[in-house]
Amino acid sequence: MRLERVRLADFRNYVTLDVAPEPGLNVFVGPNAQGKSNLLEALAMLATGKSFRAHRESELIRADCERAEIAGDARISAGAIRLRCSIARTPAGMRKAFEVNGGAVGFARFLGRTRVVTFVPADLQLVSGGPALRRTLLNGALAQLSPTYYRDLALYQKIVQQKSALLHGAIAPDRDLLLAYNDELVRPAAALIAARRAFVDEIAAATVEIYARWRGADERLGVTYAPNPDGDVGEALAAAVESELRRRTTLVGPHRDDIRLLVDGKALSAFGSQGQQRTAVLALKVAEYEVMRTRTGDAPILLLDDVLSELDAERASGFLGAVGGYEQAFLTATDLPQAIGPAAVWAIRAAAVTRC
Ligand code: ATP
Ligand code: MG
Repeated sequence: MRLERVRLADFRNYVTLDVAPEPGLNVFVGPNAQGKSNLLEALAMLATGKSFRAHRESELIRADCERAEIAGDARISAGAIRLRCSIARTPAGMRKAFEVNGGAVGFARFLGRTRVVTFVPADLQLVSGGPALRRTLLNGALAQLSPTYYRDLALYQKIVQQKSALLHGAIAPDRDLLLAYNDELVRPAAALIAARRAFVDEIAAATVEIYARWRGADERLGVTYAPNPDGDVGEALAAAVESELRRRTTLVGPHRDDIRLLVDGKALSAFGSQGQQRTAVLALKVAEYEVMRTRTGDAPILLLDDVLSELDAERASGFLGAVGGYEQAFLTATDLPQAIGPAAVWAIRAAAVTRC
């Protein structure tokens, strides 16, 4: 799939933007704070409806403006599609609206019409950092692949938040209410775990294969899903009730699960060299891309925000070569990267984008 035209209005530092990206690799080059990441953030929002970096959605609207808009004309395997996402400040709070082909739709029907794999500098901690980043990878990919996954995730997170508020509250938590929350959690939790297990099995196979290609067959990488709980969800929730009441926190459920990475049987995060960790991160990202492509038969759009500059030339070209099957990719950099092959190069200065 690919974007043929993108328009922005009052999004971040863009007053208006109207660009027609090219198929293949598009490279956006410009000094710091000109709008490179902002543009990639907008492209990602056409797929996910959410920012990959804003803490508050109000940040997305240009200062002193009321409403931001992102519109895109995309070509997917099924044909052409027009997408629009707007964010408005209202007296009642932030209001987001979505359109597909000119008709208003709810978020779940907008999500995943185009699909992206994003790779931002924070992802370089995917192996060395905490489990939240790895769960974000799973949720980001799976929500784009399946509206059902997104609905289960949203429901699950809502109930966990309520349960957590109950446990953290000033007064002793009501046991019956806790049990009621647990009952509601079982179905979505089991659905999330099943979907994540199948997805991790697929990315694990691809990650191990790519890692071995880059580092040789002597190093054995292991990638496994570590679900919480690893067993029957209802039973595990029931077994944890007393501990949760005593410790005043949620202990069981997929909001606490992880992807485990081992090299030669030892935790890569604790025992791996920086080079091994970095190679595993790149392999995971390529694997995410490959699985999204094979599952849908349509290559996702690749968004690389400022990451190639963090990599040595060999890793950078190895990474781009490994995702060689992309139909369209967007890459940002402060300087034009070396050895990237043919690309459409664009300059970004003060939120103005010009083709070089
Ligand atoms: P770097 O190379 O440092 O990553 P960049 O080109 O990726 O730079 P962006 O993050 O895209 O930079 O843009 C940052 C600029 O956008 C900053 O100058 C910031 O003040 C501005 N900006 C961010 N949000 C808003 C907003 N809501 N309204 C106006 N300007 C904004
Ligand atoms: Mg940036």
